[in-house]
Amino acid sequence: MNSSLLNFENKDLSLLPSVSLARDLQSKLGEGHQWIFHDALSEGPKNYKGPSLLKFKNKSIAVGAYDSSSELRYRFLSWLPMEGDEFLKRWKLAIKRRHRYLDKNERLKTNSFRLIFGEGDDFPGIVIDIFANIAVIQLDRPWLKKIWNLEAWIKLIREDLPFIEGILLKSKTSAKENEGEESEVLFGDVPEIIEFKENQMIFKTKIREAAKTGFFLDQRDNRLLIEKFTSGCRVINFFSYTGGFSVFAARGGASEVISVDIAKAAIDNCEEHFVLNKLNTKRTHICNDAFEYLELMKKKKEKFDLVIIDPPSFAPNAKAKENAMKAYEKCFAMGAELVSKNGLLAFSSCSGHVSLEDFGHVINASVSKAKRRAKIIAWGHQPSDHPYPLAMKELHYLKFCLLELG
Ligand code: SAH
Repeated sequence: MNSSLLNFENKDLSLLPSVSLARDLQSKLGEGHQWIFHDALSEGPKNYKGPSLLKFKNKSIAVGAYDSSSELRYRFLSWLPMEGDEFLKRWKLAIKRRHRYLDKNERLKTNSFRLIFGEGDDFPGIVIDIFANIAVIQLDRPWLKKIWNLEAWIKLIREDLPFIEGILLKSKTSAKENEGEESEVLFGDVPEIIEFKENQMIFKTKIREAAKTGFFLDQRDNRLLIEKFTSGCRVINFFSYTGGFSVFAARGGASEVISVDIAKAAIDNCEEHFVLNKLNTKRTHICNDAFEYLELMKKKKEKFDLVIIDPPSFAPNAKAKENAMKAYEKCFAMGAELVSKNGLLAFSSCSGHVSLEDFGHVINASVSKAKRRAKIIAWGHQPSDHPYPLAMKELHYLKFCLLELG
């Protein structure tokens, strides 16, 4: 068996197709940036997706993953010549970074985490999430199977995470959010429904149908933050998905929690999560468009002590950014209007194209649109199992802000 994490490492690299840099990006790549867009490359192979050499001034300098159909044309993998165990070293480092999540005692409280976060762990295009005894591998595109040798990944997962009983592969077939996904069991048994823990709360996911790898693990730290502020609060959680924030708000002592999401399957799961966690908080789960419901709450002059707004990525690509900024501003401002005097407001954006600076602008604009004064109580980000290269701030995708409104 080929034990290399790369599918082509033991082959003659000089036989790979090549593409040339149109300008010298070597220092950028050296800083840890791993993406090259089509306009920085000269003509490469047509109708080709797979491993390829990167040339500069006729010299092969690196190896990476090439996709002739995508604007993100090249994902850098390694300088040449490659060291034999370079990728194994990357794997070991990724495991070391998750040391705390792999700790036996920690797993009694939280047994769901991101084991590999693509570029953040120097493994472009591959994400691995752990839900209790199941690992879910997500490839950003199905053809990345040509790059990553899944047999070797399975072997390493089983060696270093001996509690894993099943491995599921999910591949995105479209660049669009939550659209087109294929799944395939790679090892063991993967049940339809998986139960797992996050900070001692129990959640369930229908792993094959669920969005992304199964659950939004990236809000873990922000859910704990919310919990600290909900004692006695009337809370409304827009874009709730399966109620992650709702459940933590209830555990924090909220007097009432309303969850709103457009996806029926997700909203149905909210109630199950309250029951599983034996929470007897007053709650309502509403399957509705969030914008419509924001409008309705405003019309009814409803007020809340905490309003949470965690919309989907309105900017799946750079071109969509302007409209996304408008959509964020619109729902954030509407949310601000629902906050009671000295109540709290939590905003989040999970779009890599909306920078921390952009997010700050949207917050300012929406608070002033709602004619409110605000204090920042806390900023939040993606948790430590979602690391990103300093040189790729677009991978600092999750932003979160908790405000108090006067
Ligand atoms: N806060 C969630 C994650 C939110 S993901 C958590 O902690 O798990 C974004 C959610 O927005 C998805 O569940 C999706 O179904 C929902 N959504 C997308 N468009 C919507 C709309 N127009 N109205 C309401 N919900 C919407």
